[in-house]
Amino acid sequence: MITGQLKRIIELQSLQQESAAETNNICAVVSGKGGTGKTVFSVLLSDILSRKNRKVLLIDLDLNLANIHFLLNENPHKSLNDYFAHHEELQNIIKNYAENLHIIYGLNSYSISDIPFKSSLEKLLKDIQSLSEKYDLVILDLGAGLSEFTLKALKISAIKIILTVPEATSVMDAYAVIKMFENYDKPANFHVVMNRCLDKTDGNDSFAKLSRAVSGFLKSSVKFLAAISESKDIRQSVAEQDLLKDEVRTSKFTNEFLMAAEEIDKFIHLTNINQPSKSASSRTAKNISKSTLIL
Ligand code: ADP
Ligand code: MG
Repeated sequence: MITGQLKRIIELQSLQQESAAETNNICAVVSGKGGTGKTVFSVLLSDILSRKNRKVLLIDLDLNLANIHFLLNENPHKSLNDYFAHHEELQNIIKNYAENLHIIYGLNSYSISDIPFKSSLEKLLKDIQSLSEKYDLVILDLGAGLSEFTLKALKISAIKIILTVPEATSVMDAYAVIKMFENYDKPANFHVVMNRCLDKTDGNDSFAKLSRAVSGFLKSSVKFLAAISESKDIRQSVAEQDLLKDEVRTSKFTNEFLMAAEEIDKFIHLTNINQPSKSASSRTAKNISKSTLIL
């Protein structure tokens, strides 16, 4: 018991040292290829952490191809369209999806004039940073590949998650994104999620290849965050536009999010030190921050 607590304190201290200069509660989810599961992952991670009493804001930043509302079968009353086109305040377009899970639905552009200006995108990132003070965690579900906006969104995020599937071409694209970001900013310590794994070796082998390339060619490193199995439940829930249905929440693969949720929880713990809890039930949240996250 004491050993477990000690281990956690040591882990937190080393994490604190590693990221002392840039600890914040913003988490960017990116990928090389499209369709690797960023949105599914972002939504499920947000759901799990919010149900563990973390106050989470999930933002659909896949500009022009937003789809969180689709996966949740929501008809957003407000979205980033209102922010860009009608100058709504960011806080006024938040949907309180659940007590601890707030969502900002994305922008969908149907003509070239809908595409936001660079200055508006920069303002959006600043507004997100201000809004993040009200949450334990802000998750940015970004588009595939690298745009200037994605690079800037990654730059303001202390937690950088990259999703890939184990296929070689997808891993190569993930490597290209990591390389481009590291040329733009600095060693980023990307956390890698291997999604749609057919078995354990599938995910482990592909991660090992990516890790070797990053350390060999970029002299940097990546961390393994999770391996998620190919899941019929996920596919079906997406088809039914009901991603958070009970069958998904209780299915076996949900446990695979344990590692990811625990790791992210450590960051939340760090940013929460000396701060009042933001979740709906602060008493429970306080207990959680003192213990390991058990899902
Ligand atoms: P992205 O946001 O990266 O474009 P999505 O999250 O929209 O990708 O996922 C793309 C599709 O992949 C979804 O329609 C979903 O059906 C499928 N998918 C994602 N993760 C899994 C998984 N672990 N098992 C099976 N299908 C998955
Ligand atoms: Mg997506």
